[in-house]
Amino acid sequence: MSLSEFKLIEKYFNVKNKAAFPAALTIGDDCAVVDIPEGQQLAVTSDTLVEGVHFLAGSDPALLGHKVLAVNLSDLAAMGATPAWLTLAITLPKVDEAWLEGFSRGFLNLAAEYDTQLIGGDTTQGPLSITVTAFGLLPKGSALKRSTAKVDDNVFVSGVIGSAGLGLLLAQQDNIVADNEDLLHYLKPMPCVEIGLQIRELASSCIDISDGLAADLNHILQASGVGATLNNELLPMTAGVQQHIQQQADWRWPYSTGDDYQLCFTCPEDQEIELLTILKGHRITKIGKVEKELGLRIRFKDGQQEVLTKGYQHF
Ligand SMILES: [Mg+2]
Repeated sequence: MSLSEFKLIEKYFNVKNKAAFPAALTIGDDCAVVDIPEGQQLAVTSDTLVEGVHFLAGSDPALLGHKVLAVNLSDLAAMGATPAWLTLAITLPKVDEAWLEGFSRGFLNLAAEYDTQLIGGDTTQGPLSITVTAFGLLPKGSALKRSTAKVDDNVFVSGVIGSAGLGLLLAQQDNIVADNEDLLHYLKPMPCVEIGLQIRELASSCIDISDGLAADLNHILQASGVGATLNNELLPMTAGVQQHIQQQADWRWPYSTGDDYQLCFTCPEDQEIELLTILKGHRITKIGKVEKELGLRIRFKDGQQEVLTKGYQHF
């Protein structure tokens, strides 16, 4: 590499933004050192994006920088954690300063939005791939989990479902309309960090939707040993997604498409008013109910019901 690793990090990533939890030691030593505040636990998550697998070759580097961080912050959001620190490992085919400038701008802008601090990382040469590890803080014992949904809790989602999936289809076309909302949801997902923090004391379980609503809600249902029925007409969707479903004649589509990075959570009925009051200002939709019968069912307006996924019986 023409630019040494040290200089590359200095030039593009050693930025002193305002940090909510400034590290005791950051970039420059062999390890970063952080102080965990009294009574808090560390929530840790890691995600890798590989060119050609998780993003299209030739993707805008600033959007990529944003997205690789957003997907990690989304995991912290699902646990109700406050984002604190980040590490970043980049494998690059060659030192491309224009790419690095764009990537670091997208990454660091989102990092600054949540007062998080980039405290370390690594750069290597090879096929383009990016790994971020995000560290968040939680009051001891307060993490939102997948395994704690209860029968009769209601099921909620934030935002709209299926939009990023449609955005991916649009991104693969030639005539891209730049301000299309579905395309934006795919290219620049916003992690639901505030929602995760606000529901931490009220929701009974939570997950972020990365693989599709059916797959991710199923993780909650299986971990909790319960099932659920969703009302198809309550699913929040953009006009574009509704149109796409009609064109494809495939009601299953929004349940199986991924990348939305919204939260899916359950809440006991007696906490619901408080929850919806706290979340005023966010789009939150009640879409169904947790039931004893295992599996995920979809109910239609005419009363018809379809099984989307059968519950897995562990014993
Ligand atoms: Mg997740």
